[in-house]
Amino acid sequence: MLMYIDPHIHVTSRTTDDYEAMRQAGIVAIIEPAFWLGQPRTKVGSFQDYFNSLVGWERFRASQFGIKHYCTIGLNSKEANNEALAEEVMELLPLYAGKEGVVAIGEIGYDDQTAAEDKFYRLQLDLAKEMNLPVMIHTPHRDKKRGTTKSMDVCLEHGLDPKMVIVDHNNEETVEEVLDRGFWAAFTIYPHTKMGSERMVEVVKRYGSERIIVDSAADWGISDPLSVPKTANLMRERGISDEDIRLTCYQNALTAYAQSGQMHESDWLNPTAVDESQKLHGNSILRGGQEPNADRRSDIVEN
Ligand SMILES: [Zn+2]
Repeated sequence: MLMYIDPHIHVTSRTTDDYEAMRQAGIVAIIEPAFWLGQPRTKVGSFQDYFNSLVGWERFRASQFGIKHYCTIGLNSKEANNEALAEEVMELLPLYAGKEGVVAIGEIGYDDQTAAEDKFYRLQLDLAKEMNLPVMIHTPHRDKKRGTTKSMDVCLEHGLDPKMVIVDHNNEETVEEVLDRGFWAAFTIYPHTKMGSERMVEVVKRYGSERIIVDSAADWGISDPLSVPKTANLMRERGISDEDIRLTCYQNALTAYAQSGQMHESDWLNPTAVDESQKLHGNSILRGGQEPNADRRSDIVEN
């Protein structure tokens, strides 16, 4: 069976059915970037508990479905606009960014491209450089071309090596510049809109597989946690080589984020069997007298 990595997915918002389907489809490892929850947080403690869940409970929960979970730590661009709170979050970041399994500072960048967003983006680039961690950039959905160019300009201004920076949410308008400047170009596959699997196939046909990464960015919105394996299947159908599929849907993400020193292929090769009787701080994923490792996975319908 082919192995896939989804290097951008917010599994905190996803269900156990999603986890089971992801594992069945061949996803062996995921990266969950710290981000916005859909409504603004009002206290620094909410960030702290969220970061704790990214390195704690969610990692455990993924492991119970046979998936290796990593995360990135950062202050998202939207919430950078609450400057008083953002200052407090900045103080937390070094503590969490240094934890095991944290593979980048992210997702950071611009949303409305305000002065406050610019300030906290720059501070976090300095932090990434200081900690020798890769950076995951969220490029803005509005005024994308200009925002993407600026995101990269500022990285270079702060002395970051483009090979340490993954620029995400690319499209046909941004990909060429990102690749030409030596950055990693990630693509979020949104079902029904924007960057779909069909368009991704065309991008790989045109630009090849070097430094191109496919992800789902699945979260609490309308999104698909199987975007990576589904896109890989479509690539195969359309005649893209197995090696290009392996690079864009597995290896490039590993190469990029392994630069953190926190992500190794051996983490998921030769896995130990999932033991559902395991607990984290006294809590397990079993509910209401369910038996550990019962044969529940057989009733999943293939996509
Ligand atoms: Zn995201």
